[in-house]
Amino acid sequence: MADLLVAHSLHLALDPQAAAERKPHPPLGTLVTAAELEREGHDVAVYDGTFGRPEDFEQALAGHRPRKVAILADPHNISQKMCLSVWREAALVMVGAARGMGADVLVAGPDVSDHPDLYRGGVGRDEADPGITVVEGEHDTAVAAWAKGDPVSPGRRVRSNLAGLPFPAWSRAPMDRYAAAWRAAHGHWELNVSTARGCPYRCNWCAKPTWGRRYTVRPADEVWAEIMELRERYRPDRLWFTDDIFAIQRPWLARYAELAASDPMPFRCLSRADLLTDPEAVKELARAGAVEVWLGAESGSDAVLNAMDKDGTVDEIRTATRLLRKNGIRTGFFLQLGYPGERYEDVMSTVRMVRDLRPDEIGVSVSYPLPGTVFWDRVMAGRSAADAASARWAGSMENRVLFASPLNQGCYDAAREVMRAEHALARFAAKPTWRGAARVPWHLGRWPAERMRLLWGGTS
Ligand code: SF4
Repeated sequence: MADLLVAHSLHLALDPQAAAERKPHPPLGTLVTAAELEREGHDVAVYDGTFGRPEDFEQALAGHRPRKVAILADPHNISQKMCLSVWREAALVMVGAARGMGADVLVAGPDVSDHPDLYRGGVGRDEADPGITVVEGEHDTAVAAWAKGDPVSPGRRVRSNLAGLPFPAWSRAPMDRYAAAWRAAHGHWELNVSTARGCPYRCNWCAKPTWGRRYTVRPADEVWAEIMELRERYRPDRLWFTDDIFAIQRPWLARYAELAASDPMPFRCLSRADLLTDPEAVKELARAGAVEVWLGAESGSDAVLNAMDKDGTVDEIRTATRLLRKNGIRTGFFLQLGYPGERYEDVMSTVRMVRDLRPDEIGVSVSYPLPGTVFWDRVMAGRSAADAASARWAGSMENRVLFASPLNQGCYDAAREVMRAEHALARFAAKPTWRGAARVPWHLGRWPAERMRLLWGGTS
């Protein structure tokens, strides 16, 4: 039994391709909120459905009989930030189940911020349900007020000071299952930590429904204390910093590196190429413990980067990749194909960039429009509201083009497969492994046909 149940809607089984990667992280946003509510003296239970299905939520409701239920999409999780239809459906099923047993419900998350009216009525109601509180933007202060019975003011809110945040309530998640899933699939365990919220840059396809363009960072000393406790209690092998961009402020990075210097904790993170063209910044990142940095490289064409308002160049990507490699840090490129204005030769520039720079990892997708962005406005102009609202992927790797693009889907599919094959073969040649060897025949078999398809402009 518990007065309050805090839950999230991410059930990995609903996104089979992401599940197949077997890289689950505990629901950070939910666990921080649970810790805050515990600190304020509430009787809190957590439903972590990562390894279950939305139907399991009914068992949690039956077991706890909560008076209040908060259903939170995790704003630290990339997949939930994509507002996939599977998370929306799961959240609505959970809202319906909680209302069905008479609990007051609060619902929040990126998709809720984009489509608050969809959630206001719960399931099957035309008018707003007074038992449902919809929160737009950051949820934690709103959840705290709602839990106390205070009114939750409408509109978006963003916390301006992250000092003193409690450490996530890890003990409320099945940490042994996360560890087992990682170790069985990858031989190591990676845990997630957030050092900051938001991003001040203006890439015009990037949605910011939770924190807007504000950037707020936790004190480095508090982050390091959290990491020390994580190490002590769970012994992870490395960390994933969930920040949109890790360590934007150099003095912050310097302090973090100073704290970590004597016993660094290996980590992966996201960054921008333009932040990593200074050799001293990259050295500092290595000293802090970075083992892998993912760059939002996006494209091998400056024209496309300009169209995206990326405020970065291919030359910067080249320099950052070289410096990261020189400092022993692996590099990942996020790449997207099909951005409005991209021409066939731009696609080929991206293929060539990957071939030339040989990042250690690549993630390739077609451009994915999200509400509230310039990109969305450009490609959804003229479409009905219902048609636009349904333009979303079901799974995180669906890679279906959702708008009228200059090139056909086959061209993007072929470019993606050519990059994947060339990347896998180059990696195997540089560092042969049994795992890599198992994939070589598949890539070798596929590459000629995909390359031919790409050279023909994706003609199927
Ligand atoms: S730098 Fe990354 S997080 Fe920031 S606006 Fe650009 S794409 Fe979004």
